[in-house]
This record gives sequence, structure tokens and C-alpha cells, in this order.
Amino acid sequence: MSTFFEHTTMLVQRAARVLNLSPEVIKRLETPDRVLEFEIPVKMDDGTEKKFQGWRVQHNNALGPYKGGIRFHQDSSLDEVKALASLMTWKTSLMGIPYGGAKGAVAVDPRALSPRELEELSRGYVRAIAEYIGPDKDVPAPDVGTNAQIMEWMVDEYEKIIGKPSLAAFTGKPVGKGGSEGREEATGFGGFVVMREYMARKSLATNIKDVTVAIQGFGNVGQNIASFFYQHGLKIIAVSDSKGGLCEPEGINILRLLEVKEKTGMIDRNKCYAQAPHEMLCRDCSNASLLTLRTDILIPAALENQITEDNAPDVKARVILEMANGPLTTEADAILISKGIEIIPDILANGGGVVGSYFEWMQSLANDYWPSERVLQAIEEKMVAAFCAVAETKEAHNVSWREAAYTRALERVAQAMK
Ligand code: NAD
Repeated sequence: MSTFFEHTTMLVQRAARVLNLSPEVIKRLETPDRVLEFEIPVKMDDGTEKKFQGWRVQHNNALGPYKGGIRFHQDSSLDEVKALASLMTWKTSLMGIPYGGAKGAVAVDPRALSPRELEELSRGYVRAIAEYIGPDKDVPAPDVGTNAQIMEWMVDEYEKIIGKPSLAAFTGKPVGKGGSEGREEATGFGGFVVMREYMARKSLATNIKDVTVAIQGFGNVGQNIASFFYQHGLKIIAVSDSKGGLCEPEGINILRLLEVKEKTGMIDRNKCYAQAPHEMLCRDCSNASLLTLRTDILIPAALENQITEDNAPDVKARVILEMANGPLTTEADAILISKGIEIIPDILANGGGVVGSYFEWMQSLANDYWPSERVLQAIEEKMVAAFCAVAETKEAHNVSWREAAYTRALERVAQAMK
């Protein structure tokens, strides 16, 4: 199996061939501009000192400041961060926003740290990269395992270091502390808009109530896209998170499930029964079986490399909306395409998050405040424009959705580099 970064590099090379780019330009597009690798010491609550491995990769800034989240996850690696930084370059380009691409991570399970240890780690991370970030250099944001509270600590540490306020140095901050209304739901909302546009072009749109959806991952992205789909009448037949899943062919009451998850931190069936015995007639469903359910739309919204050559032959969805970054391996992608399954790629499907971040950055720079409706409307415009651009490129070059999205994205970056 190729690594995540090799997979991303292969996608870049394929799109570069469509565009007939020179080998020098391709080399630049494949290679990150800067890789920062460091250890962050943390004094643990038991008095010992522990060092955590951290990274920040700045991939390309031809279109504007580097932009990308910071992930706290025990399995994070440099290969993953390089791949995610590259994806950010293509995503910001495709979304038509003036940013480049970056990503950061710390190899840590944040759930194993106390709040004090987590704060010390977050502040230590900022001290390691402070020289290289800033509103017009590199603007980090949350990702898996990080949240608005962590961004608040990070921006505070950064402001202490530079000795002045600088809210625009980070996005994903808490609302009321420089954060933007609408940012929390931006990624899920953007994915919903993309799928709505896709369905409008396909027979899937004929009777929305018959369209079935299975969602892997029930965190920020999974929960938000589930509620947008549910509120628009689609039938969510399965959801899962790292602890297990639920399946109900007649459709899950997502609003009820969100309440259960909020109260208990879990989506397990017994808890749902206990909370709402009349409305949740669900069966347990493992993560593995969710991915191979017969469904119209399959949404991986957890982590990368979830569909591989091992389970791809069993996938029965009609279309896959990649809300997670890199959920399919190179091998899985080829198998699914040969089965006639359409794949809406991550750099298009989950671009709503970085577009939401862009509007937060604008508000922070201008000391302005936008209500949620304005933010979501602005995100919708960007998502529709990006979807139409990819659909047009797909038709012009007779390529897959993924190749079309990469071709469009590379074209803009390559032009700016020239
Ligand atoms: P999150 O940490 O809020 O949620 C992740 C969810 O995935 C959790 O429910 C977790 O239990 C679940 N999960 C983890 N491992 C799993 C497994 N093996 N099987 C099933 N579920 C599993 O993270 P998030 O912000 O929702 O991000 C999810 C994905 O979306 C990531 O790939 C992230 O990079 C991508 N993404 C997020 C945003 C954003 O704005 N949050 C934007 C763009 C892309």
C-alpha cells in the first residue's frame, strides 16, 4: 500500500500531466516549502517531564499565506502531515480563497492528558513555530483532536510572544473570543451544498426522502453533515464513531442521536434505547460493516485510509462524499471507479471548513462581526462556484471528479507561481 503522501503526490503528478506542466514546476508542487520538526516538553501532573513529537509543514504559498489545521492524534506522522499540507494547497486553490497550504500535528492522544497538560502542550507547540506563523505568513486552525479552546490558548501564547493582539493569526477560535459564527458547522454545511449540487445533476434528486446515507465518524464533521441531510429529508441509515455504530434501514432520528451523544459522549444503541425507546429502533453496526452497506451515499468523515483494497470490492454505495481527508487509498480509489462508483473528492467536499476559516480571518483582520446567515451564505457561494468549476473541468477533460478537482486546483497555483 502506498503511503498517504505518496498517494497525494501521485494525484498531483496525474493532474500535472493533464496540464502539461514542466518537470521543474511539478517538482515544486510535490515538495513542501518548509518542514519543521520538533519536540515539545510538558511537565506532567505526576511531576515527570514528557516530550511530544510535533510538526508544522508549509507546503506552498503561491496564492497567499499558508493555511491549515493542527491535529493532535497518537498516530500522526510526518508523512501524514506532509500529505495533509499538500491537500490544503489544492483545497484553498479550488475554493478560490487567497491562501496556500500547511498542516501541523503532535503525536499525542489528547484524551490521555489533563486540561493543564493539554494547555501546556498547546502553548509549547506555538512557541516552537511562532517565528514562522502570523496573519500574513501561516494561519493555523483546529483539526482532529484540537478545538476552539486549544485555539484560544494558542492565540494567547502567540500574542504574548509578539507583544500585541493578533486574533487573525489563528482561526477556529471560540465565538465571542474572535471566532466566527457558522465556523463550527461550516465543513458539514459545505459538504451538504456540494452533495445538493451533485444530486441536482443526477437522478438521485428525484425523491429526496428515498435517498439513503451512511456516515462513518460522528465528530464535528459527521454530526453537522448528518443534521443538514436529516433536516432536508434524506434518510440516514447508519452512523458510527470510534466506539461503534448504529444502523436503521428506516432512518435514524439524527436530532435525537445528537442529544444522546451530547449527554453521554456515545452513540451506542443501549444508551439510545435508554434515552428514547420509541424513536431509536436501531441495530448495532460495526465500522467495517457500515462501509459496505447498500446505500446511495457513503460519507467517510473520520480519518484517512478507511477504504482500502481489502474492503473496496465490497462497497455498495452509488456515490462517496469524502468529508474526511484522504479516506481512500490509491488502490481503493481505482477499485471503486472500476465498479462505477462516483467519488466526490475531499478537496472539494470538505472545503467548507477552510472557507469558513477564511471568513473568520477576514473578520479578525477587520475587527468585524458577521451573523451566522451571512457566513453560511458566503460559504454556499464559494462551494457552488467550486463545484461548478470542477464539473466543467470534468466534462472538458473527460476525467474523474478527483482528477478534475486536482487539475483545476493545480492550474491556479501553477499560474500564480509563474
Ligand atoms: P473529530 O475529532 O471531531 O471527529 C472524528 C470522528 O471520527 C469522531 O467521531 C471519532 O470517534 C471518529 N472516528 C475516529 N476513528 C474512527 C474509526 N476508525 N471509525 C469510525 N469513526 C472513527 O474530527 P472532525 O473535525 O470531525 O474531522 C473528521 C475528518 O474531517 C478528518 O479527516 C479531518 O481532517 C476532516 N476535516 C475536518 C474539518 C473541520 O472543519 N473539522 C475540515 C476539513 C476536513
